[in-house]
Amino acid sequence: MTTLKIEKLRSKIEGKEILKGLTLEIHGGEIHAIMGPNGTGKSTLASALMGHPKYEVTGGKVTLDNEDLLDMEVDERAQAGLFLAMQYPSEIAGVTNSDFLRSAINARREEGDEISLIRFIREMESKMQGLEMNPEFMHRYLNEGFSGGEKKRNEILQMMLLEPKFVILDEVDSGLDIDALRIVANGVNEMRSPDRGFLIITHYQRLLNYITPDFVHVMMQGRIVKSGGPELAHRLEAEGYDWVKEELGITDETVSEA
Ligand code: ADP
Ligand code: MG
Repeated sequence: MTTLKIEKLRSKIEGKEILKGLTLEIHGGEIHAIMGPNGTGKSTLASALMGHPKYEVTGGKVTLDNEDLLDMEVDERAQAGLFLAMQYPSEIAGVTNSDFLRSAINARREEGDEISLIRFIREMESKMQGLEMNPEFMHRYLNEGFSGGEKKRNEILQMMLLEPKFVILDEVDSGLDIDALRIVANGVNEMRSPDRGFLIITHYQRLLNYITPDFVHVMMQGRIVKSGGPELAHRLEAEGYDWVKEELGITDETVSEA
């Protein structure tokens, strides 16, 4: 069984410590949702796991199927089966969406076992259809001039074609209208499998109406401070985060002191 194990992870950006000992374990077949106030380090967690060079890891351990993830370069992490749908996907002029995707797929395959052009196009077309994307997006430059919602669908398209072992979705619901949200959620649900784990970072419970998580975690001040089931997301939606702070004795001073 595939396992992503994060132990006491600490990370700094521009000299400021953001992740302060975050521990979380995700197994294949599970969907974990992380919710938390703005600026609490959710995207930092995603970037640190993926190996973004700006995020310095200063402590802790992360393994993917017992292999040391933190020791790997970004491309090695992707090869190992980690996938991140970014909160703000980058635009890359000069590289078409289809060229990018085909290279990404082939990078995960052995030499001599590259996907054939015909098969690639057939798969890409069928997934794009499922995501209700206009086929012209195949030939557009990666994310260039895409609307927020189009970028998010494109991230899901990448996930579906790459078939990663571990998927991190960072606010994939932001900027989506209700129809797009349903389409994106369907794409995710289709990819649910006992061999694949998900970490879904979201600000709103509404995504979780379409994708039912197995576990919900509250992140505050760079740590997971509370975990529960789907009911926890409903309570956060209804009542906000104050009750969690009260329950745990978290004050704004603990924020500034950290
Ligand atoms: P969240 O995703 O939970 O809203 P982030 O991980 O984006 O939070 O941000 C956590 C903190 O790190 C914030 O205080 C933010 O300003 C800071 N931060 C994140 N990225 C950068 C960056 N590239 N440069 C400087 N500070 C950053
Ligand atoms: Mg964020």
